[in-house]
Amino acid sequence: RVGLPSTSESTVSQYACQRRTTLDNPNKIFTDAFEVLAENSDFCDSKGQALAYKRAASVLKSLPAALRCLGDTEGLPCLGEQTRAVVEDIFECGRSSKVETILSDEKFQTMKLFTSVFGVGPKTAEKWYLRGLRTLEEIVSEPHVHLNRMQQAGFLYYADITRPVSKAEAHAVGRIVKETVQEMSPNASVVLTGGFRRGKEFGHDVDYILTTPEMGTEEGLLLRVIDRLNYQGILLYTEYQGSTFDANRLPCRRFEAMDHFPKCFLIIQLHAAAIQDGTLSCDPGDRRGWRAVRLDLVAPPADRFAFALLGWSGSTQFERDLRRFARLERGMLLDNHALYDKSKDAFLPAKTEEDIFGHLGLEYIEPWQRNA
Ligand code: ATP
Ligand code: MN
Ligand code: MN
Repeated sequence: RVGLPSTSESTVSQYACQRRTTLDNPNKIFTDAFEVLAENSDFCDSKGQALAYKRAASVLKSLPAALRCLGDTEGLPCLGEQTRAVVEDIFECGRSSKVETILSDEKFQTMKLFTSVFGVGPKTAEKWYLRGLRTLEEIVSEPHVHLNRMQQAGFLYYADITRPVSKAEAHAVGRIVKETVQEMSPNASVVLTGGFRRGKEFGHDVDYILTTPEMGTEEGLLLRVIDRLNYQGILLYTEYQGSTFDANRLPCRRFEAMDHFPKCFLIIQLHAAAIQDGTLSCDPGDRRGWRAVRLDLVAPPADRFAFALLGWSGSTQFERDLRRFARLERGMLLDNHALYDKSKDAFLPAKTEEDIFGHLGLEYIEPWQRNA
């Protein structure tokens, strides 16, 4: 066994938060297949099955070397009969027939197209599919289709926001946010989170956390930042959600995407001049000199910064397993706001992510090792 940990010396944990998963993925051929299967299961509302595929992909991403044969999957957690059959297929034929069938399926293709629009989830996509709609042109020209504000923006900026955001663009957006924050609140901090904090070269959006040392001023700061960006004329879409945070509430048991901090989901205009080397990742034929970029800002109170940072840094699979580990292995509840120890009936405070890993009795995992 070259490069792969043998079961006797080191076993791979079933929890992503006990694995180090960098962006080098020697098993991409398998994990890509699992991710198609997971997406298809999500489209069919089979959440459990989708999760099983996502877990299998996540385990393979953490391995230091490529699988060489089906036998290499022995002893690995989260790989069941179905996922092993896919691995076997790929070893034998170089591809999985199950995956090929899905990729050529009209419903899958249409669902994938429709859900690529900002603001369109599987429910809406399926509704449109069942009405016989198949293309984006059909949706915008169909008089009976009602689009909400988010979906309207999704169609309006479709070409830009489906184009991956580069690291240079993410940092340029960060500089804009930092300058704006500096003007109003010099003590406030702006910290990169999400996929770019994990070292990704490209992302679907840019995520930053704002916070101020004076507790209770973060929500006002976020509102003023939005106002200021709007005044600069670069806001193309704004969705603001005020705080629903309650410091006494226990962390949420189930993994849910939304937290209770004040936040906003924006689309901003990023001009070529704002980029260090002056080049936007646009069509070369594009003469506008700017592109639209999705930007998320979240503003937790200072004493919750570490929890918010850990929660927004992802990956989603890493976050899921952190919470599951806390609950099942430590009798604790973790979410983006807090960590609660059930046996002590106490909240465990944290100033840094290291503090949270420490409370959980986990080795610290660097952000770039959280690409589970
Ligand atoms: P990408 O490069 O595609 O943007 P990403 O990992 O940054 O990848 P995001 O969808 O931006 O993905 O989410 C980043 C992290 O923030 C995820 O781990 C997710 O759990 C968390 N997150 C996203 N939206 C919310 C939200 N509304 N409330 C709480 N947490 C969220
Ligand atoms: Mn992101
Ligand atoms: Mn985001």
